[in-house]
Amino acid sequence: MKLVLLGAPGAGKGTHATHLSDDYGIPHISTGDIFRANLRNGTELGLKAKSYMDQGLLVPDELTVDLVLDRLKQDDCKNGWILDGFPRNLFQAEALTKALADEGDEIDYAINLIVDDQEIVRRMSGRLVCSSCGVSYNTNGLMPKVDGVCDRCGGPVVRRADDEPETVLKRLNVYHEQTEPIAAYYRGLGKEARVDGALPKDETYALLTGLLGDKDGCHN
Ligand SMILES: [Zn+2]
Repeated sequence: MKLVLLGAPGAGKGTHATHLSDDYGIPHISTGDIFRANLRNGTELGLKAKSYMDQGLLVPDELTVDLVLDRLKQDDCKNGWILDGFPRNLFQAEALTKALADEGDEIDYAINLIVDDQEIVRRMSGRLVCSSCGVSYNTNGLMPKVDGVCDRCGGPVVRRADDEPETVLKRLNVYHEQTEPIAAYYRGLGKEARVDGALPKDETYALLTGLLGDKDGCHN
């Protein structure tokens, strides 16, 4: 099972990817994790990436692609993988398609977790955090017993600047601009699977497993 996961920040990608990874026995791979692992191990690719990052430059697409393809060759990827945060643009998407095609392979789906912007704003702006101990609260769920005061340490419970509605909307605009061409690219290949991510978590997950099929019947 080879999956690319698309979805706005707050759409629940991380949660569902972790669950799929457990159920299907395939690694959940994010570019952040790949960079960190290569830097930690001082690999040649990692050192190259570091030389850009040290200068405050973006890591070039070619190098990002090399890092991801290198990761996909590792043993735990034999039965497949879930890519999260890659591809980030058309260049990367086409490079992934080509690298797989060279091995006579292709992705199964580019799963597009659809959650409308208003729902994302509602979810994100509901997140509160204790600025002393870092415990999370949520206006749609668990709230501190005393408004604005952490149950655990008595510290102030606040909404992070990143989760303010205007900030969330700005990030969503950037996301849509960057991601729509990638979704359209996979749509053109007949690989895009749009899944309703606005449902309760379990229902969205049931749609995903319905799409991907029984893990035991997983053919590769
Ligand atoms: Zn606290």
